[in-house]
Amino acid sequence: MSKTPPRLTSPREVAAYLKEKGMSPLKKFGQNFLCDENILHKIADAACPEGACVLEIGMGLGALTHVLAARASRLVTVEIDRGLIRAQREDIGLPDNAVLVEGDILETDLEAAAASFGDQPFYVCGNLPYYITGRILMLLLESLLPIQAITAMVQKEVADRLAARPGDSDYGALTALAGYYSAPETLFTVSSSCFYPAPDVDSAIIRIDLAHPAVTAVPFADYRRIVNAAFAMRRKTIQNNLRSIFGPETASVLESCGIRAAARAQELTPEQFACLAERERQK
Ligand code: SAM
Repeated sequence: MSKTPPRLTSPREVAAYLKEKGMSPLKKFGQNFLCDENILHKIADAACPEGACVLEIGMGLGALTHVLAARASRLVTVEIDRGLIRAQREDIGLPDNAVLVEGDILETDLEAAAASFGDQPFYVCGNLPYYITGRILMLLLESLLPIQAITAMVQKEVADRLAARPGDSDYGALTALAGYYSAPETLFTVSSSCFYPAPDVDSAIIRIDLAHPAVTAVPFADYRRIVNAAFAMRRKTIQNNLRSIFGPETASVLESCGIRAAARAQELTPEQFACLAERERQK
């Protein structure tokens, strides 16, 4: 049954609630609770259309959970921290259309979560724990599940990594995988005063639209295989990294895609990764 959650709409209220429960924010779980109602609504509005199925990562004290669930037809939220799970049971409650999966998002059976949406397309949203933001985004991008869009609070450094261009120092496998889809957007930045405790890095809301691939020449599974092989050893040349796939043909395959043998993976455009994936399909 749903309960009326405690009012947690300012850093002071969140601090007082945690104190009353004998809890404190856990740095090891990246706990910075968002307590600005305006920002919570802006995130939910950007995350999904009314009536969508939503997977939330990191329920926390349920602030975003409740706002998202008010828009969603069904919501699954994942939380690792037993203290927060207890607080949810004792005081915060969950809306009737929401279920909590207890555990580590990196170990969660995402296919089971997707199946609970009746295998319908779904949206992912979360104020992500910053110690594993990159790993969570990689997991979602690589999942092959019918995710329509990812809307997430990330540290600005990750937003910059997603927006990096080939040749930039922060261009990596995450950027290249996201590059399969239409360019990830940074929707807005969020002041650290909107959280309790205030994070010591700048934060931004990013959105990756997975429903509209920018690269359509090859299926994502094939593109992903090439990106992962190309970035296997970041310091090695693309020729060395791709030898495991193309063997003695590697040099000619690279040439046919207009790629220098001495290039590094971080210099390639999504179209060049797609070209390599196409060559692998033709093998
Ligand atoms: N959604 C809440 C909000 O907006 O206030 C909490 C956001 S807080 C930045 C990140 C949340 O993710 C915390 O509740 C934390 O306990 C949870 N978390 C951390 N690591 C996790 C993991 N590996 N799997 C699932 N949840 C995790």
